[in-house]
Amino acid sequence: MSDRPVATERLLVTDVRPYGEAPADLLINGGLIAGVFDPVLRPAVLADAAPDRVVDGHGLIVLPAFIDLHVHLREPGGSDQETIETGLAAAAAGGFSDVFAMANVSPVTDSVERVAWMSERARAASLVRTHPVGSITLGLAGTELIPIDDLVDAGVTLFSDDGRCVDDAGLVAQALTRAADRGVTIAQHSQLHDLAGSGQINAGFAAEATGLDAWPVSGEAAVIARDAVIAAETGGHLHVCHLSTRRSVEVVRQAKALGWPVSAEVTPHHLLLTDELAATAAPKFKVNPPLRSADDVQALREALRDGTIDTVGTDHAPHTTAAKSCGWSEAAFGLTGLETALSVVAHATAQHGVVDWRLITRAMHDAPARIGHVETAVDAQVRAGDPATLVFIDEHPTGPIAGAEQRTKADNTPFEGVTLPWSIAATLIDGVAVHGAL
Ligand SMILES: [Zn+2]
Repeated sequence: MSDRPVATERLLVTDVRPYGEAPADLLINGGLIAGVFDPVLRPAVLADAAPDRVVDGHGLIVLPAFIDLHVHLREPGGSDQETIETGLAAAAAGGFSDVFAMANVSPVTDSVERVAWMSERARAASLVRTHPVGSITLGLAGTELIPIDDLVDAGVTLFSDDGRCVDDAGLVAQALTRAADRGVTIAQHSQLHDLAGSGQINAGFAAEATGLDAWPVSGEAAVIARDAVIAAETGGHLHVCHLSTRRSVEVVRQAKALGWPVSAEVTPHHLLLTDELAATAAPKFKVNPPLRSADDVQALREALRDGTIDTVGTDHAPHTTAAKSCGWSEAAFGLTGLETALSVVAHATAQHGVVDWRLITRAMHDAPARIGHVETAVDAQVRAGDPATLVFIDEHPTGPIAGAEQRTKADNTPFEGVTLPWSIAATLIDGVAVHGAL
């Protein structure tokens, strides 16, 4: 079924720090973690396990590899922006083992045939594991539900019209009812058309400074509240894509306190960048939902720490250079994010310079595994017996971020020229390196 190479080597990586904690020696045998040992036991491990190769991993943090519920690979239909191969190479370079490929491609992923096409292309790339997202409505038109059951039978676990909001509450109710029956997840791009339809930039200071159409906080929070009530009634799992405001956080916090089946996601860029950058009207900061206020950024960080927000999704949205080198109004919404995600999230969530690697693991592995039903990754840890599907992280940056040097085909990173600590040294899937080398 899979074209993946199979790991056969016995490898000992010494002095790594699982979850940023005490140093340990990691024995990898084929595709599995065979043991996690105190370095004082090294002579015995070397004698007993007789590894084929020993690598000095001093200084490297090791975590379960990341999972991204929100990636735009652009193919089919947008290969001038990204291809499946370049998008998955970018994901591997960002430390990801699994990505969910959004359905807003052309043709839309709204049938079993389209899912099969996407799976086949991704498998041939033999890089990061790819989970096609099914759309919620046919052709993303927002008027008719796709055959959700057929796609679930074909292995799809996440459904979204992302790029557009499903405005019709009746369709949301039908989709969540099917989700409840089949144990899958409905991911909503929460942007109520009546309130935020033509919005270009955060309402308030940024809209006033630029004269662009305002995208108000209520356009997001109001539809989250509506959908959360429907999730409570139907029992279907609602996943809120790219939460961006304090008010949205308050709605999700309330829904969770009531025990409603709601989960939430934040992007790396919404954890770090504010509408002051957008107010410069530089198209590289044009994104949907828009960059919000410093107070919103603060609320998102707190919500990620306290678990109100479950996961980080990059919303990696590659565009051609032309689509971003025009005026703000004509420019496309979206930023790249796969290769900068770890650095940005580590930087944005660090307190007094200390990174909480358990928090990173929860947000970038545990929660997305659960929400996306990635069976191979649910409950996986850095421990003996679990898959050697791991990310190795170096505290040093690889240099200033340069879009032209990234694996993604696109160069619309908002972090051009910025230097952030932490870089991905290697990404392993079942013991095989898909990025870097050990
Ligand atoms: Zn979206």
